[in-house]
Amino acid sequence: MGAVLRLHYNGGMKKLAIIGGGAAGLAAAVSAARGAAGGVDVSVYEADERVGRSILATGNGRCNFSNARVDAGVYRNAEFVAAAFDALAGNAAESGDPVHAFFADLGLVWREEGEGRLYPLANKASSVLNVLRSAAADFGAVEACDRRAVRLDVPERPGGRFHIRFADGAVEHADAVVLATGGRTARELLPAGIAVSGTRPVLGPLRTATDVVKHLNNIRVRGAVSLAGPGGQVKAREVGEVLFRDYGVSGIAVFNLSRFAEAGDLLLVDLLPQVPEDGCAGFLHARRKRFAADGRPLSREAFLRGMLLPAVARAVLHEAGLAPEAPLANRDVAPLAEALKAFPLSVEGIGDERQCQVRRGGADVAAFDPRTLEARAVPGLHVVGEALDVDAPCGGYNLHWAWASGILAGCAATARFRG
Ligand SMILES: Cc1cc2nc3c(=O)[nH]c(=O)nc-3n(C[C@H](O)[C@H](O)[C@H](O)COP(=O)(O)OP(=O)(O)OC[C@H]3O[C@@H](n4cnc5c(N)ncnc54)[C@H](O)[C@@H]3O)c2cc1C
Repeated sequence: MGAVLRLHYNGGMKKLAIIGGGAAGLAAAVSAARGAAGGVDVSVYEADERVGRSILATGNGRCNFSNARVDAGVYRNAEFVAAAFDALAGNAAESGDPVHAFFADLGLVWREEGEGRLYPLANKASSVLNVLRSAAADFGAVEACDRRAVRLDVPERPGGRFHIRFADGAVEHADAVVLATGGRTARELLPAGIAVSGTRPVLGPLRTATDVVKHLNNIRVRGAVSLAGPGGQVKAREVGEVLFRDYGVSGIAVFNLSRFAEAGDLLLVDLLPQVPEDGCAGFLHARRKRFAADGRPLSREAFLRGMLLPAVARAVLHEAGLAPEAPLANRDVAPLAEALKAFPLSVEGIGDERQCQVRRGGADVAAFDPRTLEARAVPGLHVVGEALDVDAPCGGYNLHWAWASGILAGCAATARFRG
């Protein structure tokens, strides 16, 4: 490490306070402390008794920490995210993804799984947390746990200091702040004047009307699922596994659709995704002909045997208004095709908040410079991660944003001290 440049405030060292020691906060701590090379007091204040607990819970304990093909277009507020990614790439010394380079510098080794999902080679979220914590400590950042910030007062004059009040009544002062509290509590700390929308949990299972799904509990089907608004307009579409639960539906496809779902929407499950919609009736007629060739009696239930699980077949027949045991007639094909291609489930809301991976909403991105994540109206205040109104589908994109925004803000905060 080169000679330490100490940056002073009234005789003391400049201080950067990072509120929240989760994914974005720890990335900010590493990048700030590395950039300051010992010249700035970088402190991470974490409400929990340890930092990084949120990271340990990700990817079922394996931490899908990024994606090999990150595209800003998948994020909410995509233009803002693209500008932040561009700024990060502009700051980087080498080509390639700057977040991946950041982790490679910390010593993390990873491997790619389906759809570009990146997991640490050790297959444990703890290895991601460990490289972050040890780098932060080596570069001189300090962890302060059991410190829940309850109030943030911004400087009253240019060059003044921030005052952070904690739940135990203590107050700390800082020259710059990175707010990295995640989506739940950022609202309580953000200064008036920065618009903050209410947050709601998304990226989780959906609760639907239960009359159908209660008979399908724990059944998985591979299909395509569309989310349609009350006017019938398709809001989003996903292909993948749908897991029926007694309260609704789960699975990655449903998690992704939950970002856009509202009570009153319809989920339309395509149970025959390999058959095009306009070819479905033809497919069923051909199947009927094949059965007829053997001269066996053919009930509606028997017609679906071998194509759908019995419980799913019964639900489809119920939806089509057809009694299962009656013989299959030519006129049954049209309602059956409709029920198979767009099996409807009425959305009532989020199924289980505890399973939701992110909160939608947060600080309005318009109030921030995407190159530094600094509040335009409050110099020295940076907001990162889920505290901003940014979220993305499953696949490592949410953590990627947490790291990227943390790295940007950490760099910018210390660069600012240097003028
Ligand atoms: C079960 C689960 C699995 C997930 N899996 C994945 C995955 O595999 N891949 C992926 O990309 N994303 C995943 N996510 C989403 C990802 O974890 C978040 O997007 C990411 O952690 C957000 O980072 P953050 O730093 O903004 O918030 P967090 O990581 O939540 O960190 C916020 C920190 O701030 C602390 N804090 C809050 N309020 C205060 C306060 N007032 N004072 C001091 N400290 C405070 C919290 O205790 C916490 O440590 C998952 C989420 C969940 C819940």
